[in-house]
Amino acid sequence: MSDFDYDLFVIGGGSGGVRAARMSAQFGAKVAIAEEYRWGGTCVIRGCVPKKLMVYASTYHEHFEDAAGFGWTVGESRFDWKTLIANKDTEIARLEGIYGNILSSNGVESFAQRAVVVDPHTVRLADGTEKSAKHILIATGGTPRKLDIPGAEHTITSNEIFHLDALPQRTVVIGGGYIAAEFAGILNGLGSDVTLSYRSDLFLRGFDREVREHVAAEMRAKGITLRFNTQPVAVHKTPDGLKVELEGGERLPADAVMMATGRVPATQGLGLAEVGVKLQANGAVEVDDYSQSSVPSIFAVGDVTSRMELTPVAIREGAAFAETIFNANPTKPDHALVPTAIFTQPEIGTVGLSEEVAGDAHEIEVYASTFRPMVATLSGREEKMLMKMIVDKPTQKVLGVHIIGHGAGEMIQMAGIAVKMGATKADFDATVAVHPTASEELVTMKTPVR
Ligand code: FAD
Repeated sequence: MSDFDYDLFVIGGGSGGVRAARMSAQFGAKVAIAEEYRWGGTCVIRGCVPKKLMVYASTYHEHFEDAAGFGWTVGESRFDWKTLIANKDTEIARLEGIYGNILSSNGVESFAQRAVVVDPHTVRLADGTEKSAKHILIATGGTPRKLDIPGAEHTITSNEIFHLDALPQRTVVIGGGYIAAEFAGILNGLGSDVTLSYRSDLFLRGFDREVREHVAAEMRAKGITLRFNTQPVAVHKTPDGLKVELEGGERLPADAVMMATGRVPATQGLGLAEVGVKLQANGAVEVDDYSQSSVPSIFAVGDVTSRMELTPVAIREGAAFAETIFNANPTKPDHALVPTAIFTQPEIGTVGLSEEVAGDAHEIEVYASTFRPMVATLSGREEKMLMKMIVDKPTQKVLGVHIIGHGAGEMIQMAGIAVKMGATKADFDATVAVHPTASEELVTMKTPVR
């Protein structure tokens, strides 16, 4: 008999926490989990899933326009924000239910309330009850951070954007990460007049420079105003809407101002530092390769560790934790060569190194092709896809693949398998093209451009 109420108490019912709880229970552990908001966490409730549904919604007006070149006459079209939000909410509620069922059907005891850490083996629930556990897993994710400027209280974040009463006619998006760029595309596609303001010279820092420039040009062509090298200093509420004041005094009018200016690990008030858990400067839980914190009984997975803030990574980290602790199978989550998609319009799929990072450490060859996708020939739409491959010259190993255009997210999953397996350029070339597709460019680029 264990001296503890549980073998594992998980704090946070999102991507990482639910996976760890479910697998640990399946391995025979007695598991409890607490969630203070909604089961499924950021990704399901106010992240990846609702966002992707809104991306779909925002592309229809282009489809209607493009249809003409293929002989279709489409009647008058009209977008209704409330219908989209209601249907999205129904789907999210369905998914939330599935998460709840996963927990109960695997015998995990669920507490729909906040939990904090009291000592290395004890958590306290919001109702005051205390529960002891041999292991505690912190899977509390992160929360949006706003710029600390006057008037910030008039702005929204990604948390609120999913529940606005109406589509804002004019939106200013502040920030240059993928969430900012994605929502600029969504709101523009749905009919809002969008300005994105970012302090640096180009958004999507960390991604391949050519990719960032290409996407910026395509977004501008779709009517989004991109303002780089600008810094908002205040947001004013006026009788005719909000005004974002930039350095230098210019004022951008808006009906909604979205701050997508980063996320912080959700460790505030959790009691971690008090029990000796080492935190990084940004509040993230410091963990070793097995997700163990500086207090041996306390582990952490997902966004709260600031390793790689993606759902599939949080899930892998949760799974590796369960394997290590409850299946006698020490497993390190693998953060190398993680493929990912950015649902900007156009979409980006990327795996491996950017040209800049690869070029610093390797002697490289760059293969790249910019072309008009077939669908754009009859639609008449001026848009270009980009396929780019970074190759290590001496070994011919593919170090990075970058795709921009329709289906880039789908394509990169497949390319990611090849890159993860260590494919060389010759391996790609040995694969027969699928014709006519855009992805065939990946196996037909013959001569390096640099
Ligand atoms: P979360 O999913 O955030 O779950 C943490 C949970 O803990 C939350 O439900 C929270 O309510 C709960 N919690 C916090 N503190 C406590 C407490 N003290 N007690 C009880 N419960 C608590 N990732 C992708 O891979 N692809 C995408 O396209 C993508 N799009 C995104 C779009 C947006 C707008 C955002 C914000 C994120 C997106 N992400 C995307 C990132 C993804 O959502 C996260 O990486 C993922 O959710 C991390 O999972 P997690 O388990 O670490 O934390």
